[in-house]
Amino acid sequence: MVDSVALGGTQNWQNRLYQMEVPLCISNDELLFSAYNQLINNGRINREIGLRLMTEADFFPLTSLAKMVKESRFGKQIFFNENLHVNTTNICVLACRFCAFRKGSRHSEAYELTIDEYLHRIEPFSEIIDEVHSVGGLHPSWSVEHYEELYRKTSKIFPHVHIKSLTAVEIKHIASRSNLSVKRTLERLSAAGLDSIPGGGAEILVDSVRDRICRGKESSQEYIDIHKIAHSIGIPTNCTMLFGTVETANERIIHLEKLRNLQDQTEGFQCFVPYPFLPDHSRLPEAQLATSNEILRVIAVSRLMLDNIPHIKAYRMNIGDNIGQMGLICGADDIDGTVGHEEIMHSAGSTTSLTTSSEELAKLVLEVGCRPIRRNTIYSSFEEIIFEENIEARLPILV
Ligand code: SF4
Repeated sequence: MVDSVALGGTQNWQNRLYQMEVPLCISNDELLFSAYNQLINNGRINREIGLRLMTEADFFPLTSLAKMVKESRFGKQIFFNENLHVNTTNICVLACRFCAFRKGSRHSEAYELTIDEYLHRIEPFSEIIDEVHSVGGLHPSWSVEHYEELYRKTSKIFPHVHIKSLTAVEIKHIASRSNLSVKRTLERLSAAGLDSIPGGGAEILVDSVRDRICRGKESSQEYIDIHKIAHSIGIPTNCTMLFGTVETANERIIHLEKLRNLQDQTEGFQCFVPYPFLPDHSRLPEAQLATSNEILRVIAVSRLMLDNIPHIKAYRMNIGDNIGQMGLICGADDIDGTVGHEEIMHSAGSTTSLTTSSEELAKLVLEVGCRPIRRNTIYSSFEEIIFEENIEARLPILV
């Protein structure tokens, strides 16, 4: 039985947090106890405390508080889904310096899937997935009609598959190529079958950072505005943060605050997905690169700062299964999906397995003492994975 707190995790979490025993590592730590008190009293950590958490907090009390907040929302439940990534094209008119995926149109490895090829990619997985996640480069000639046909045919042939597709900059590009407003573009794509938007491309929502790592991409305000428009017409979205390039800790906090502010207005974000820059085949030699410690700290701070975004993802395609598991005891409640095929992170150096089954994902969750819950994309349908064999009796429990 899935607990009712799974249904969004936004109700009464402060009360549940208040009723939990506060471990000594938090009550004896001036910074973490201040953060705890702000959450209990205001439901929100301010920017100053957020920045100190990012830069000064001791690892153990920080991640302990993040784990408490996660458990106040979802208990021991950890969510994942059965999905497939299909990238439509790697041809892109931009050349973000962190991106290992894009190719120029004349490159020998450039590709653009026809609609039939796209459908053939889904076909072998169609019995086991309920979501296709599709993003791609900014194609020089595809306009809204191409994507309408893609989504219409996909929804007709695979009606049970939720279409989660397009980053904000793709939406801006399609709108511009089609001489349409962003709102009208999204209305047409939604009518054709687009169900939700994955949230990639936020990078760091500070324009001076964007100028250095992805000049020419949408501005910070445009990213926020495109998601706001999507929310206003009923399209749920996720949001992301690419860290470990050239940003400061303060710029990470500004990023989180911008997402939190939009969520106050719209409540349209389902999930926040923080992931570190992977350097292979990119053009960003000055990147700072995040350590495992830093990845887990970012997950923990995100859980504490984003009090109004219910789900925080430990994105295994980027951080791998081992750090992903650790993320689940540092504040994350979701470990993404089975994925099946992935190019963007793997082009940049990820070695995460693409053949992980639902059962194997469930075992990753059980290994950290949590309950694996299969979900749909919009977190409205849940199923707990229960093994007949008591796996918890023979596996190390890390919490
Ligand atoms: S990150 Fe996206 S917009 Fe930037 S170069 Fe890569 S595919 Fe193009």
